[in-house]
Amino acid sequence: MRRFAFLSGLLLSVALAGCQTAKRPAPDTTIKTSSIVAPEGQISGTEGSPFQMSRDTRPHHLAGRTLTVASIHDLRLGDKEVILSFDDGPIPGRTDRVLSTLDQFGVKGAFMMVGEMAELHPELARRVAMEGNAIGSHTYRHENLAALTFDLAMKEITRGEAAVTKATGVDVNFFRFPYLADSHKLRAAVAMRDMVVMDVDVDSKDYFNTSPAAVTKRTMDRLHERGRGIILMHDIHNRTATMLPTLLSRLEAEGYKVVTLQFKKSTAPAEMASL
Ligand SMILES: [Zn+2]
Repeated sequence: MRRFAFLSGLLLSVALAGCQTAKRPAPDTTIKTSSIVAPEGQISGTEGSPFQMSRDTRPHHLAGRTLTVASIHDLRLGDKEVILSFDDGPIPGRTDRVLSTLDQFGVKGAFMMVGEMAELHPELARRVAMEGNAIGSHTYRHENLAALTFDLAMKEITRGEAAVTKATGVDVNFFRFPYLADSHKLRAAVAMRDMVVMDVDVDSKDYFNTSPAAVTKRTMDRLHERGRGIILMHDIHNRTATMLPTLLSRLEAEGYKVVTLQFKKSTAPAEMASL
């Protein structure tokens, strides 16, 4: 049974290898960027900055502030601030390596799990949550929601949310659309479920069959253009786990800060996410 689960996970991860913006079958192939420009005065507060000593007592220069968000409007980054987001996992042998690297650098990521993957690897899903990373859902079967009816899309969203919640043991606070294929109506519906839609500013394109060094270079080049942003990676790929230490070293050397995400439920009625 374990072997079956492992093989199923591998097969699913192979299927997910095609998860990329460029292959999105819907007509709109542009990346939906987040509202990353912070209003004046909001970035100065660095209270709660998790400047911690690691297990190897290496000082952490990469850890930035903790950003508390209740809605997409709070996902605002300052200059040289980044969010590390990882889609499509968890999967043994990759996700755990990503977790170890994040721990070495004293930073947290945001993991957008596929419900079916979380079901297959609940211990790993739980570990991701227990290590203080932000937990998001990426639907149950990684469907292109723009190609489904609204009702079927909502079924995928709620089933994925339930599976990730069960596997991790925590609330699912974030959501990323597979292939970034969204709609205003679906974004609003996700917000109504108290999940913050995670858009993408810097696509590492780590699903391309290129070297880890090429992924690092592409990511840094794109980041230099924008100066900040939500970085999209996939913790199901070997090259991603391999390149991550180099990428984080580069970010640290260039003075970037990795923001830790924290969700706080809004007391106000759910907002219409992107309307
Ligand atoms: Zn994906």
